[in-house]
Amino acid sequence: MRKTLWLSGLLLLVLCVPGTAAAQSSKPSDTIRTDKGDLVITFLGHASLMFQWQGKVIQVDPWSTQADYATLPKADLILLTHEHRDHLDPLAIEAVRKGGTVIGASAKAAAGLPGAVVLKIGETRELAAIRVETVPAYNLKHMRSPGTPYHIKGDFNGYVLFFGSMRVYIAGDTEVIPEMAALQGVDVAFLPVNLPHTMAIDMLVDAARMIRPRILYPYHTGDTDLAKVVAALKAVPGVETRVRPMK
Ligand code: ZN
Ligand code: ZN
Repeated sequence: MRKTLWLSGLLLLVLCVPGTAAAQSSKPSDTIRTDKGDLVITFLGHASLMFQWQGKVIQVDPWSTQADYATLPKADLILLTHEHRDHLDPLAIEAVRKGGTVIGASAKAAAGLPGAVVLKIGETRELAAIRVETVPAYNLKHMRSPGTPYHIKGDFNGYVLFFGSMRVYIAGDTEVIPEMAALQGVDVAFLPVNLPHTMAIDMLVDAARMIRPRILYPYHTGDTDLAKVVAALKAVPGVETRVRPMK
């Protein structure tokens, strides 16, 4: 009798402990098969993404307004595209950081983060056993003030992550830029679409034509009309547009 009570008490305790599985299921996720195991992408919101692959957890641009990071699994790798507050949030970083977490960031984003690795545009590195290529992100058209783009060429990063032979492009805050034409074999692309800081819908369509990803997730969408985004992207054959809550 006592043993039964003890056991049921233990069971209750186990059931009541908030598990990471439950926490993760509160946000939508997609599972995509790679040649080296499943890749789980959790859509935390805005530009905040979580990738899980081969037991590794990667947080991209974690931002406390989008998720309760204390309930998410600790990160092996944190990637920051730039220092704007919707991409660099010290509180969210602290919440998912553990001993041994590798942080990779643009130079300005890394400046306030002791131990962060500066990722320079054009270089490819292994971070937490994940291959990361750093690519440019910038505005050509939209200016913060005359002559000064919202994102200046050279200071802001995008990333291509390699999960086995699968390539995932996280564009960061960018417009359609000529360098996108050089991206080869992108399977999954996250492309921003919100004015005035990133792309207009017609720019997004041009970017999709240049990159030709198998799957395109519009992200950093702000108040953009997503029905219009989906309709416009129908003009690009071979690209599957997936809308997730990434306002
Ligand atoms: Zn920005
Ligand atoms: Zn942004």
